Amino acid sequence: MTISSTADGIANGTANGHGEHCRTKKETHILIIGAGLTGLLLAQGLRKLNAALESRGQPANYTYSIYERDEAAFYRGGGFSLTIHWALQQLYDVLPEDLSARIFQCVGNPAAIENGQMGSFTYLNLRTGHPLHRNEVLPGWKGARMSRAKFLKLLMTGLTVEYSKRLSEITYPNDDTVCAHFEDGQMVTGDLLVGADGSRSVVRRFLYGAENSKNCQLPVRMINCRCDYPLENLRGCMDIDPHLFHGGDPVQNGYFMFAFLDVPRPGSAQTTASCQLTLSWPYEPGFLGEQEPSDPPNEYLERVAWLRRLTEYWANPVHDLIHHIPEDSIVRPVTIEEWLPNDATQHRTDRRFTMVGDAAHLMTSCK
Ligand SMILES: Cc1cc2nc3c(=O)[nH]c(=O)nc-3n(C[C@H](O)[C@H](O)[C@H](O)COP(=O)(O)OP(=O)(O)OC[C@H]3O[C@@H](n4cnc5c(N)ncnc54)[C@H](O)[C@@H]3O)c2cc1C
Repeated sequence: MTISSTADGIANGTANGHGEHCRTKKETHILIIGAGLTGLLLAQGLRKLNAALESRGQPANYTYSIYERDEAAFYRGGGFSLTIHWALQQLYDVLPEDLSARIFQCVGNPAAIENGQMGSFTYLNLRTGHPLHRNEVLPGWKGARMSRAKFLKLLMTGLTVEYSKRLSEITYPNDDTVCAHFEDGQMVTGDLLVGADGSRSVVRRFLYGAENSKNCQLPVRMINCRCDYPLENLRGCMDIDPHLFHGGDPVQNGYFMFAFLDVPRPGSAQTTASCQLTLSWPYEPGFLGEQEPSDPPNEYLERVAWLRRLTEYWANPVHDLIHHIPEDSIVRPVTIEEWLPNDATQHRTDRRFTMVGDAAHLMTSCK
């Protein structure tokens, strides 16, 4: 995460998004565009930095405000899950201690972690159901399988986010400040604008122009499902791993990932667990006997039928999961795309704005 500043150039600005004011001390006001994982992490990092400065008797120099396009938190559902592969230590470094202490409350299967079951990196041969690779994770691993919604909620702690603020333009009132303009007509001024506005970043467009900031779709198609299964139907998955596992189809080149999103604690009255199923396939002619490359179907029932076809020869437990997808499941295509830097995007950025997270570097799930 890059944080640069213009600490010497202080003019008028806003404090925490509550309008223009005159500053009485040297401070850097940071406009954070986007309240996804990265924007919220940046704000928490600034909170921690300010607290550290104050504890050393120094002024807390960084003020910030967060502007989010969506109408409310979790307006689009909050997403499914993600693995922190090895960056747990960096999270501990960035987050205030009270939040770091709660990271493992955000995993999909907290009881397993409490029992010391950190899981394994298991990769199945989907035709046989047997592991091709299995690597037990020991307690102390610097990673975790997080429920995105729980993690986002944790990261929102103590922060004020301004919603329904879609960035539409960036201007420069003078040499030291930057102005963010929103679609609703509001305008705010700061010393640094940070684009944490995700994979199709508007800030990137301002920085590199429309053509150079475009993503390109990779020759892979993906469908993500969120399904609630009765616990007794999940024993096979739990035996493989209490958090997640992956697999590949060596015959027709498909990929699968299973993750527990929300497992009830032992003794709970809840009889189902929420799970994430992710399936992808190569976008090429001839796949599954189709002449043309296959896109995900538009309609729900057609999508489920396509997934059943894709997994027809897969072994259990994956076969039955797909062939008995509950009716109220979410079955949604995900666009797998990448932003490829080129010569035109290699120049230094203006010191008044920068990007972090997917805006700067897409993390397509095939990486
Ligand atoms: C299927 C899939 C699986 C993945 N699995 C993993 C994994 O296991 N581990 C991992 O580390 N990563 C994973 N990733 C990548 C990870 O999800 C992203 O790197 C991460 O979510 C990026 O966070 P972000 O805050 O940069 O962007 P986002 O989460 O996209 O947040 C951007 C925010 O900016 C807001 N916004 C957008 N435009 C504007 C605007 N004009 N004005 C104001 N606000 C705006 C959006 O509403 C959004 O809230 C996966 C990605 C995919 C697609």
